[in-house]
Amino acid sequence: MVRARHTYIRARLAGLYSRLPIGVGLLLIGWFVLGVCSSNITPSSVSVRGYYRRDGTYVSPYHRRPPGSVAHDEPYQFGALCGLGLAIAGLISTGSFIHALWKKSDFDLLPPIGYVSTLPPPPVKPRVPDAFAKSRKLWRCRRCPRLISVGDRYWYFSNPAPYAGRERICPSCVSAVATEAKRYPQEAIAYSHLVAEEQRRVARIHAEQYRVVYGYDAPAEELGVFIEGRFSRRGRHGRS
Ligand SMILES: [Zn+2]
Repeated sequence: MVRARHTYIRARLAGLYSRLPIGVGLLLIGWFVLGVCSSNITPSSVSVRGYYRRDGTYVSPYHRRPPGSVAHDEPYQFGALCGLGLAIAGLISTGSFIHALWKKSDFDLLPPIGYVSTLPPPPVKPRVPDAFAKSRKLWRCRRCPRLISVGDRYWYFSNPAPYAGRERICPSCVSAVATEAKRYPQEAIAYSHLVAEEQRRVARIHAEQYRVVYGYDAPAEELGVFIEGRFSRRGRHGRS
C-alpha cells in the first residue's frame, strides 16, 4: 500500500498528468495524421510482374510510375512530414516521463527548492611578492597610489616576470599583503565552517520537502548522497 502510494507520487512528479498525456496525445495525433497522409500519397513507382506478350515474347518485371502520378503529392507529403514530427515529439515527451520515473531518484524528482546561497565570496589566498629590486625609474605602486622614486626598493613577483611586465609594489603594500597572507588559513577554515553550515541548512530544507511530498522521512543515506551530489555539481554559489 505504502509502495503503491510512493510509486503514484513518483509518477505524478515525473509528469503523469502533464508530460505523459501530452506525449501520448501527440503520438496518437501524429500517428493518425501520418497514416492518413501517407495513404493518400501516390506511390512513386509500382512494380509490374513479368508477363508474355501475345506473340510469345517475355517481358521481365519492371517498375514504372503509376498513371496520372505527380512528383510531389501536396499537401499530403507535407502533412505526412508534420505527422511524423508530432509523433516524434510525442515519443520524446513520453520517453522523458518514463526516464524520469525509472531513473531519477526520489530527491531528483522533486521540484527545485529555490534556495539562494547566503555565502559571501570565498576568501582568496593573497600572493605575496617574493623578489625585490632597486628602482631605476619613477614608478607607481600597483596596489596604492604611492610613487616609487629612483633608488627606492620595490617588490615584484619573480614568476612570471619579464622586466617590462613587472608589477612593482611598494614596501608598505607588501607588508599589508604579508599580513593578509598570514590571516588566510584562519579565514579559509572559517569559510569552510560557513559552507558546512549552509550545507546542513539546505539538507534540512530538502528533507522537509521530501517529508511533505512523500509523506515520510527520507532515508538518511539517500539524503546524504543527494546533498553531496548537489553541492559538488552546482558549486557552492549555485541557485537551485
Ligand atoms: Zn603601495
